[in-house]
Amino acid sequence: MAKQVAIIGAGASGLISIKCCLEEGLEPICFERSDDIGGLWKFTETSGHGKTQVYKSVVTNVTKEMSCFSDFPFQEDYPNYMNHAKFLEYLRSYAKHFDLLKYIHLKTIVHSVTKCPDFSATGQWEVVTENEGKQDTAVFDAVMICTGFLLNPHFPLKSFPGINKFQGQILHSQQYRSPEDFQEPTRSLCKNKIYLYKYVFPSNLEKPTMAIMGHISLKGALFPGIELQGRWATRVFKGLCKIPPTNQLMAEATKKEQLIKRDIIMDPTKEKMDYITYLDELAICIGAKPSILSLFLKDPRLGKEVFFGPCTSYQYRLTGPGKWDGARNAILTQWDRTLKPLQTRIVADFSESSAVSHWLKIWGGASVLFFAVLLVYKVHEVNFV
Ligand SMILES: Cc1cc2nc3c(=O)[nH]c(=O)nc-3n(C[C@H](O)[C@H](O)[C@H](O)COP(=O)(O)OP(=O)(O)OC[C@H]3O[C@@H](n4cnc5c(N)ncnc54)[C@H](O)[C@@H]3O)c2cc1C
Repeated sequence: MAKQVAIIGAGASGLISIKCCLEEGLEPICFERSDDIGGLWKFTETSGHGKTQVYKSVVTNVTKEMSCFSDFPFQEDYPNYMNHAKFLEYLRSYAKHFDLLKYIHLKTIVHSVTKCPDFSATGQWEVVTENEGKQDTAVFDAVMICTGFLLNPHFPLKSFPGINKFQGQILHSQQYRSPEDFQEPTRSLCKNKIYLYKYVFPSNLEKPTMAIMGHISLKGALFPGIELQGRWATRVFKGLCKIPPTNQLMAEATKKEQLIKRDIIMDPTKEKMDYITYLDELAICIGAKPSILSLFLKDPRLGKEVFFGPCTSYQYRLTGPGKWDGARNAILTQWDRTLKPLQTRIVADFSESSAVSHWLKIWGGASVLFFAVLLVYKVHEVNFV
């Protein structure tokens, strides 16, 4: 029987997690507390308590080709940087295209996830949900937590010198909706520290059956990173990829903490990670990182685009599990989709007028030549006289 996986949240992380489970033959069941998919990309006029959402004027800060899921490019006419409505539209079409909606239970909040009594043997979890006042408990083989990285507002007020003298109201973007509305109270920050192996698996579990999705801060778009997390995590659930035992992970966590304290390595909770390094690291775990050398040898045009071009997520679908036949074409056409939305001006057909200008040039040239000859003749005539 296929393993059942509980997915908590139907934002971008939840959607990609459902898809990754299906790709690996796992049975996903997704619980979403709100009445819609899309997570924080679903804009509402009012800010909900403890709910992070985009504000009205938000525009993506990474281009569409760098932001998309690896086997689902944005439509070519979409703008390169888009507003929240377009981004949500993309998530909806992704869910529709891969038929993900039937796995999602809307208006169903997850109250608790606890280890089953025989967890050390089975790795199973007991999940308590509530839908319209009715509680339910079910046992799952694995859990993917997709409740959002930006759940708690981060308020680094100390980083703003002179902030104490500021008389106005200080808001976090979680409360900010639009310029007209400035009434929400200020909130405080609550932060828990937890060590996640490759930012996905909690290091203190005897069995790697829980994945925390999307808890990364990358110097680039999040979707490709979350997607590779999902592809890797589902293969770990199936036992196809291994992670080190918990005592080794805990020792690694302690060592890392000390190195961070001594400023030898960066603190990933404070600084953004390098995008390509992180994606490559996960792709290597599942065997989906393409070899640039063999690409150059087998398909020089593709090799050139992958090596010299932008690191778009399609390249992680060229090889390995989850290989997508459309990946090559997606890479070779990525600049077409980038340029397409810039070509919105309707250009008149100049074919007739260009023919006219061609004759004008010929006649114009001929006339200039005629007058030049005439001038030379006149000058000579004057000299003879
Ligand atoms: C203002 C803003 C701008 C951004 N711009 C970009 C950008 O340009 N590019 C980019 O790549 N990223 C951007 N991001 C990052 C963004 O976080 C990711 O793009 C991505 O949407 C995160 O998706 P998620 O599914 O992890 O979380 P979310 O979208 O927050 O989804 C979490 C879901 O879990 C549900 N949930 C929570 N708790 C429970 C529970 N107990 N039971 C059931 N359901 C639950 C929530 O209702 C929600 O639907 C931006 C973020 C913000 C806030």
